[in-house]
Amino acid sequence: MKQTDVKSLINYIALKILGGSDYVLDALEEYLVKGEGPASVAYKYNISKHQLRGYAQRIIEKSGSEGKAKKIVPILKDISINVKPVVRRSEDGMYKCSLCNMTMSREDTEEHVRKYHKEALTVAIKEMQTRLEQVKQELQKAKEEKTVIFTSAS
Ligand SMILES: [Zn+2]
Repeated sequence: MKQTDVKSLINYIALKILGGSDYVLDALEEYLVKGEGPASVAYKYNISKHQLRGYAQRIIEKSGSEGKAKKIVPILKDISINVKPVVRRSEDGMYKCSLCNMTMSREDTEEHVRKYHKEALTVAIKEMQTRLEQVKQELQKAKEEKTVIFTSAS
């Protein structure tokens, strides 16, 4: 069975969010986890069905399987809650960087972040890794508590 590439998942999502595609996990949750139709999800987030399927494909690949991806998307959403876009869409449809005020098109946002704001990307990745550790500990604790209840009841 294919391993889950957590590092790659976090890097991918951090760059997506910083580059202004901060809807990506919401879209994936609706499409992949809740099983809503690709057309309506794509329409809602103003992307093409092709793009949506591309995001899903990447997440499934990095997760190791579709089943794992379905479990991981909500966790990724949880751990990225404090990560905010650096580049945002402006009213004229172009994208503007909040750190250096440069204006660019949608296709260039991620490259821009990678090239000029590597530090912000590193901070976002660290933040997500830290949150992930907390989530893991919480899950572990919940598991142990359940075991205790189960053992004492029997
Ligand atoms: Zn910039």
